[in-house]
Amino acid sequence: MKTLLESLQALKAHIRNDSVAIVYQTMAQYREMVAGCIEEIIHVYYSGLNCGRDNILLEIIKERHRQDEKWGEQNHLPIEWVAILTEEVGEVSKEALKAHFDDHYQNRDRLYRYKEELIQVAAVAVSMIESIERFEKNGYEFLNKEK
Ligand SMILES: [Mg+2]
Repeated sequence: MKTLLESLQALKAHIRNDSVAIVYQTMAQYREMVAGCIEEIIHVYYSGLNCGRDNILLEIIKERHRQDEKWGEQNHLPIEWVAILTEEVGEVSKEALKAHFDDHYQNRDRLYRYKEELIQVAAVAVSMIESIERFEKNGYEFLNKEK
């Protein structure tokens, strides 16, 4: 397995010598490798601490990686993103309703699913912000090109 430095040097060589498609593929692999290292560092750093907020943020980061693996980079129009976010909020609402009316807060699994749905909402919101930052950088035409 290559080290990060070796991967970065390979990426530089690809940029100098290869097609855009190969460079893009190499960059995606490098990005994945860096993200994995950062996630591992964060996990090791916080695993021994009782630090609720940081653990929650780590869960959101993990969910963002899971979403990227499942869907790839998502560049939706803001109105489309709001529909996606609202769908996720609906899933939070569904779990909250079941926790209240069906389980009367006696089912830990239900509360766990409620929490998982909240993490998905937060991760979608992060993805929306990432997308709007790409929009700011590349413009409206960039968003439409992805359709
Ligand atoms: Mg959900």
